[in-house]
Amino acid sequence: MTVKDLVKKVFMVEILQGMALTLKMMFTPAVTRQYPEEKRPVFPGFRGLHALPRRPDGTARCVGCGLCAAVCPSQCIKVYTSEGPDHTKVVDGYEIEVLRCIYCAFCVEACPFGAISLTEHYEYSDYSREPFYMNKEMLLSNWDKYMAGKKGEDYFKKFWRPMSEDYQTPENQPVFKGRTK
Ligand code: SF4
Ligand code: SF4
Repeated sequence: MTVKDLVKKVFMVEILQGMALTLKMMFTPAVTRQYPEEKRPVFPGFRGLHALPRRPDGTARCVGCGLCAAVCPSQCIKVYTSEGPDHTKVVDGYEIEVLRCIYCAFCVEACPFGAISLTEHYEYSDYSREPFYMNKEMLLSNWDKYMAGKKGEDYFKKFWRPMSEDYQTPENQPVFKGRTK
């Protein structure tokens, strides 16, 4: 045992340090928030309740590619599609089982069209599971309620821009250009 350790033991330095810390905490203001009267600030890009963004004409941006469902680690997204009269893909249904979501936002990152978002809304507790099985209409209405206007625009412009924008065709890669004559 060194002299330093001996002095520490004799004068109970570590115990006194612990007691000093306890005394300090007694005079430090409490950090507990009195929720729901006091709400925490929500920052842009917060991962709250899900929403399906709309195009300017009011229809869902989702094209039914299924990338969000494929990437979702909780497997809580289901996309239902069918073939339309002119061979286009029609999104018949879109469902999220919100209680299984872990708010990783992989779905937002994977979507090439900015067609799914997480909103700033986090106060959605309930007494049964049913309200948490969200269908396409409910998710579109979440967009109207929580992200309409500038808030929704900013969400994608400043924070969750579709990651497909980061990728470009490599310079030497042959690409289809169409016939020239
Ligand atoms: S939300 Fe995006 S990734 Fe998911 S199916 Fe629709 S377009 Fe595809
Ligand atoms: S945030 Fe993550 S867990 Fe939740 S729906 Fe999207 S991909 Fe799935």
